[in-house]
Amino acid sequence: MPKKEEEKGFVDIINGRYKPRGVFHIPEANQPIFNKETNKLAGITNPRDMTYIHSYGGEAPFFESLGKGRLMATRCENEKCESKGSIFMPFRIYCPDCLRQATVIDMTDIAKNTAKIHSFIVTHRSGAYNTLKKPIKFINIEFDSVVTILMSYLSSGDPEIGKRVVPIFKTKNPTYTIIDLSFVLEGTPESELPEGFTF
Ligand SMILES: [Zn+2]
Repeated sequence: MPKKEEEKGFVDIINGRYKPRGVFHIPEANQPIFNKETNKLAGITNPRDMTYIHSYGGEAPFFESLGKGRLMATRCENEKCESKGSIFMPFRIYCPDCLRQATVIDMTDIAKNTAKIHSFIVTHRSGAYNTLKKPIKFINIEFDSVVTILMSYLSSGDPEIGKRVVPIFKTKNPTYTIIDLSFVLEGTPESELPEGFTF
């Protein structure tokens, strides 16, 4: 059941410190597990409801930009690095070759103009806490001038290796998670986008 406002946990940062407010653990009675044939006790259930505080650290600019319709990547700009100029998407805080902090860049236009399906998987069964519509069309995406492959999901149309796709963003009520970014086949009309998403 969805929680009421007074049952949720919230966090703000004030004067550089995390300040939790609200409820982070909801206690609930356990239940016995009985064997229906023997009427003997076999165990108990152990309800657990807790809110985990997940800090994004240096990846925060990536998640914040999705809700604004922008795709942020990073690029190594270290003169002494053999891989200088490498663009990383997924967003990497540090260059894996020289271990220096990479520079944040906006690659929205590269994604709009060059994203292609590298490979894909269609899954009809998902794990716990799945919120995506089934079947889920997971796609691996390649972009021009990007040295990595991004995993995302296709919201409309059928995946095919080599097909051109364009990014879409949940700009209305963003969740600030990776599902705010999705893709559709190139040429998909705006009216076919899932609720809350824009190009
Ligand atoms: Zn580097």
